[in-house]
Amino acid sequence: MITPQGPVCNEMVNSVTAPASLGSMGVLYNHAPLLTTLETGILGYKKVGALDNVHHIAMSNGLMEVNNNHVLVLVQAAEKAEEIDLLRAQAALARARERLASHESNIDVARAEASLKRALNRIKACC
Ligand code: ATP
Repeated sequence: MITPQGPVCNEMVNSVTAPASLGSMGVLYNHAPLLTTLETGILGYKKVGALDNVHHIAMSNGLMEVNNNHVLVLVQAAEKAEEIDLLRAQAALARARERLASHESNIDVARAEASLKRALNRIKACC
């Protein structure tokens, strides 16, 4: 998984569950090649050799390519669940809610809604 800031995750995995635009999508060994858009959501993966532990990453919208047993995820922003700053996400949520409630004409509603979605997603991923 790569963001403009650099790689977030580079692991040998048994499975990946990603928030594809058409619904949650599971990828296992020998999955057919595909390219799909992803929504803001939580990506889960199981590492090779680990027991049943699922790791979670909060991610913004992006793209996923599956090819030849490689899963490449390109996203604007992503944080492993344990690296999320909960207070920051709560502050972002409060700001977005305030903007949406203000009904001022200069508010970019789509931007505020996307920010709200990212904040809720981060809170869900780390709690
Ligand atoms: P904020 O208003 O708090 O910046 P945002 O949703 O606008 O939130 P993004 O544009 O999605 O933030 O991300 C900007 C950078 O900050 C990315 O590198 C992202 O991983 C990081 N980031 C944003 N929120 C958090 C958080 N709560 N915990 C850890 N990293 C975060």
